[in-house]
Amino acid sequence: MSDLIKPNFIAGEWLAGPDAAPNVNPSDTRDVVGLYARASQAQARMAVAAAQAAQPLWAAQTPMQRSEALDRIGSELLTRRAELADLLAREEGKALGDASGEVLRAAHIFKFFAGEALRVGGELIGSTRPNMSVEICREPVGVVTVITPWNFPLAIPAWKIAPALAYGNAVVFKPAELVPGCAWALADIIAGAGLPAGTFNLVMGRGRELGEVLLEDPRVQAITFTGSESTGRKVALSAVGRSGPMAKFQLEMGGKNPLVVLDDADVDQAIACALNGAFYSTGQRCTASSRLIVTDGVHDRFVAGLIQAMEGLVVGDARAPDTVIGPVVDASQLEQDMRYIDLGLREGATLAYGGKAQKDWNGQPGFYLQPALFTDTTPSMTINREEIFGPVASVIRVSDADEALRVANDTPFGLSAGVVTQSLKHAARFKRDLQAGMVMVNAPTAGVDPHVPFGGRKGSSYGPREQGRYAAEFFTTVKTTYINP
Ligand code: NAD
Repeated sequence: MSDLIKPNFIAGEWLAGPDAAPNVNPSDTRDVVGLYARASQAQARMAVAAAQAAQPLWAAQTPMQRSEALDRIGSELLTRRAELADLLAREEGKALGDASGEVLRAAHIFKFFAGEALRVGGELIGSTRPNMSVEICREPVGVVTVITPWNFPLAIPAWKIAPALAYGNAVVFKPAELVPGCAWALADIIAGAGLPAGTFNLVMGRGRELGEVLLEDPRVQAITFTGSESTGRKVALSAVGRSGPMAKFQLEMGGKNPLVVLDDADVDQAIACALNGAFYSTGQRCTASSRLIVTDGVHDRFVAGLIQAMEGLVVGDARAPDTVIGPVVDASQLEQDMRYIDLGLREGATLAYGGKAQKDWNGQPGFYLQPALFTDTTPSMTINREEIFGPVASVIRVSDADEALRVANDTPFGLSAGVVTQSLKHAARFKRDLQAGMVMVNAPTAGVDPHVPFGGRKGSSYGPREQGRYAAEFFTTVKTTYINP
């Protein structure tokens, strides 16, 4: 295999795979970012074995040693911020400013968990029995499989790998096929942080093939997954159906997030929230506002203003300075977006703006799509039921706040939900009654802080929350010790 191929990282060694795949720039499909090795199943097994061997060594290091290693990773991400943002924009198509923000977020996550590594505590509780005392402490789970999607190629791996390592676990990381570049760069940074060999392993390649090992191997104690609902179900079935002990698992999946705009909203604020939440990052965010639920009194002003704002969204090469909306990630995602746009039209919605695919930008062949806004839609239309995962949003007109709340909750998903209102009464009610893991009042449904819990309800999530100190629930296991002195 050529030296130009970026290898896997297993047991502290850089290892080529049986074959490799090109990583193509969606802003210009003539540009190949690099060739990345695809690991074999045997290599995935080697990675699990290496992680199992290294985990006790890593767990035996002092909290300060673990903290310092994570801090070094965070610092290196900051040092290489411009280079990594460029790579992220080039391989995933996220506009450069957003890509740079994602690198910063990944760095903040490592820095946060560098602190958390020092704060793993426990409890001493009196017993019901005389002389006995009860001690409760947290221990690492063991070997953790990390499986991630393509849409946040640095931040999502960071928010799984950093807590896994902070609490003394070993990691086998399998990134999405479309974004091996960021995964490889992160592995390169972690490789330089001084962890015992095998504590962190990178295996790139096909999900289904490597999944058979990384989900089924009984030496894996926990699986943290973010991706589509259909793959999430497979992860869950493998975790409980495999031979040997079941694996602990955590799933973050799709969304169909509502943004409610009430009559008393500041309309400019509502438009800004919708524009950002629905279309930034090309709508490829699990927290994107895909249903804009708007009451009668403000509907026409909101729609007219949003269309005017959409006219200013510059679609282009993710690395061009004026670009606000980069390309869709690849041909099959663009096809999916176009299928839903066609379906919306066939179901009777009005395409009020955009929705045209563009084969090139300034002569560069790529997967460009003008953001699309549907109006005159009903809650039962397919475009309002299924996740599209592109720059496509629908307006659903409702008569009042009661109907808005009913429609907002009428979905199998429950990740993020927003309301734009100036009324404290409405804000308090929507905060209480929206069935979502995250509620945004006068803020876009997408865009979250790195140090607080992230996750959803219903079909969006399964298992404990990610991020913030709540991450300890998944990445540790509790031991209760009875001491009779
Ligand atoms: P996907 O489910 O196709 O892939 C996710 C990961 O799973 C990839 O690494 C893939 O290789 C792997 N995979 C695929 N089949 C597998 C198998 N049989 N066994 C093990 N692993 C397998 O998802 P995607 O297209 O990469 O990402 C888009 C989806 O991710 C959307 O549905 C989006 O909503 C969701 N997402 C959710 C969140 C969240 O936190 N809720 C965040 C980002 C993205």
